[in-house]
Amino acid sequence: MTVLVTGGAGYIGSHMVWELLDAGERVVVLDNLSKGFDWAVAPEGTLIEGDIANSDLVGSLMRDYGVDAVIHFAGSIVVPESVADPLTYYQNNTCKTRTLIEAAVRHGVGHFIFSSTAAVYGGTGAEPVQENAPLEPESPYGRSKLMSEWMLRDAAAAHDLRYTALRYFNVAGADPKGRTGQSTPGATHLIKVACETALGKRPFMQVYGDDYETPDGTCVRDYIHVSDLARAHRLALQRLREGGKSLIANCGYGHGYSVLDVIAAVRRVFGQDFDVRKGPRRAGDAASVVANSDLARHEFGWIPQRDDLDLIVTDALAWERRLQTMNSACN
Ligand code: UDP
Repeated sequence: MTVLVTGGAGYIGSHMVWELLDAGERVVVLDNLSKGFDWAVAPEGTLIEGDIANSDLVGSLMRDYGVDAVIHFAGSIVVPESVADPLTYYQNNTCKTRTLIEAAVRHGVGHFIFSSTAAVYGGTGAEPVQENAPLEPESPYGRSKLMSEWMLRDAAAAHDLRYTALRYFNVAGADPKGRTGQSTPGATHLIKVACETALGKRPFMQVYGDDYETPDGTCVRDYIHVSDLARAHRLALQRLREGGKSLIANCGYGHGYSVLDVIAAVRRVFGQDFDVRKGPRRAGDAASVVANSDLARHEFGWIPQRDDLDLIVTDALAWERRLQTMNSACN
C-alpha cells in the first residue's frame, strides 16, 4: 500500500510526507513545484514532478506504486489572489481535483483525503463553528474548495470511494524536528510575518484593524500546529482504511488568539521587541473564526499534541532561522 501525496513539496504536504514516513508508510509525491521545493520532500519519499491534471501520469503512478489512498494538497491558497484571478483558482482547485478524483475512481483507489478550509463557512454563523454551519464562502478560493467537497460527496455516493475532507483553520508552525517548514517567499500569514519581522527580514509589520468586536479589538483566529494537522490526516486515513464512512471534519484547536496575542507570543519567544504598526482593516477579514473540532476528536481519535501558541511560535521561529541560514549559504 502506498499513499499518493499531491502537493507534497509544499508547506503542509511536506509535513504530511514526514508524518507518513515516520509511521512506516510508503509515499509517492506528485508536485508540479510551482510553489513547493524539491528539497522539502523527505529523501525516503519518491518525488515525481508533474501535474495532477495529467491523468495519464496520475494513472500510471497509481498503478505502478500500488496506491490505495490519495492525500490531496495540491492547489492554490491565497484568498485575495482568488478574487483577482478566480478562473485560475477554479482551474487549479476544482477542475484539477475533478481529474484526480476521476483517476482515483478509474484505478480503484478507494480512499481520498482532501485538504479543505474554514473559508467554506464564510464566518457569518455562530462560534465555535461546527461542520453543519451554513456554507457561504466569501471568496472564489472558498467556493473552489467547496465545489471539490461536493464532487467528492457525489463521486463517493456513485463509486467505490470513501473520503475525508478536513477543513483547516489557521495552520502555522513547523516540524518540531526542523526538517521542514513554511518556505514560500512573500507569505502573508500572521505568525510567519511576525517571525520574519522579529528576525529583521521585514523592517516592520502591521496589525490590520484594531476596532473589531473582539476583546482587544483585533481579529481572533484558531491557530493549529502543522504537525498536529498532519497527524489528523494520518488518523483520518487509518479510519478510512478500517472501513470508516466518508466524513467532513474541522481541524482547529477550538480556541482563538487575537492578533495582539500572537504578536505578544512572538515577542516573548524571541525575547526582543520589534516594530509593529497599526494598519487599516484588511478586506474580507472576519472578526473571529474558531473551530469546533469535536468530530475529528471523536471520529478518529485526534488528540492534539502541540496546542500551545508559544510552541507554535517556537517552531515557526526556529524554521525561519533555518531558512535564513540556508539562504545565506546559497548567497
Ligand atoms: N494579520 C495582521 N497582520 C499581518 C498578517 C495578518 O494583522 O501582517 C491579521 C489578519 O488581518 C487576520 C489575522 O492576522 O486578522 C490572521 O491572518 P492570516 O493571513 O494569518 O490568516 P487568515 O485568517 O486570513 O486566513
